Amino acid sequence: MSKRELSYEYCDQLVRDFEDVVEQPMIRKSSVYYTGVDLGTACVVLAVLDENHKPVAGAYRYADVVRDGMVVDYIGAVKVVRELKQQIEEKLNTELIYGAAAIPPGTDTLDAGAVKNVVQAAGFELTNVLDEPTAANKVLKIQNGAVVDIGGGTTGISILKNGEVVYIADEATGGTHFSLVVSGAYNMSFQEAELYKREAKNHKELLPVLKPVVEKIASIINQHIKNHNVEEIVLVGGTCCLTGIEDIITKKTGIYTHKPQNPMFVTPLGIALSC
Ligand code: ATP
Repeated sequence: MSKRELSYEYCDQLVRDFEDVVEQPMIRKSSVYYTGVDLGTACVVLAVLDENHKPVAGAYRYADVVRDGMVVDYIGAVKVVRELKQQIEEKLNTELIYGAAAIPPGTDTLDAGAVKNVVQAAGFELTNVLDEPTAANKVLKIQNGAVVDIGGGTTGISILKNGEVVYIADEATGGTHFSLVVSGAYNMSFQEAELYKREAKNHKELLPVLKPVVEKIASIINQHIKNHNVEEIVLVGGTCCLTGIEDIITKKTGIYTHKPQNPMFVTPLGIALSC
């Protein structure tokens, strides 16, 4: 493993441990539990850490309650978070009290209130609301690089200098465009294409079809990072689950690009760490 890859060992191990406890919760005594609530466009994720910041449980559900980082179905969002919370509580046989959340950078005046209200209405005592790249970087620990969050409607580019977010941009290209391309190429409805695209077994076949959109995202990344000293790029967000996306982005940007084991789980774990 190269030195650079080794620097992601903490992140990759945390994500692997989290994947395990999503399958099978880790029942062990803890004086306190910290829950990170990530309200995504495609997926709502709850990540639970124990007093030592080790993953003990988690749950996620595909839901249509948030779009482009904004809560579009408040009641639905509360219901999903409350149900996932109850599901984990039953498995751990304990009440989850403390919860934290994240919002897309630059939206604090727009939607932070709605996100806070969802987490509180679902029964958590809200301990923190931070921006998504800052949350992700609690797990990634990048000093000088970029976190590229390819979600549903948008791609967020956050540049970090000495570990702090110094520049943010949000561009209207993301997984929705991938689904539109699949829908056109395979003559499927948008919904069918969306589901087809999420299946890992279809990724090899889909990559050449989706390559032009991935290249467009890479050129957007290039535009935003060109005036910064970006040493590495890390991909997070649901769309980065596409197998092989990281190779196209590495090639087009010429910058080492790391994709965590599961790009959807980095931000919720970072939120839980901030709780
Ligand atoms: P937005 O940019 O719209 O605010 P978000 O950051 O909330 O989005 P995510 O939940 O991170 O969104 O990602 C949503 C996108 O990820 C959707 O387009 C979805 O189809 C895509 N996606 C989710 N899982 C997979 C998968 N396994 N393979 C490919 N794409 C996936």
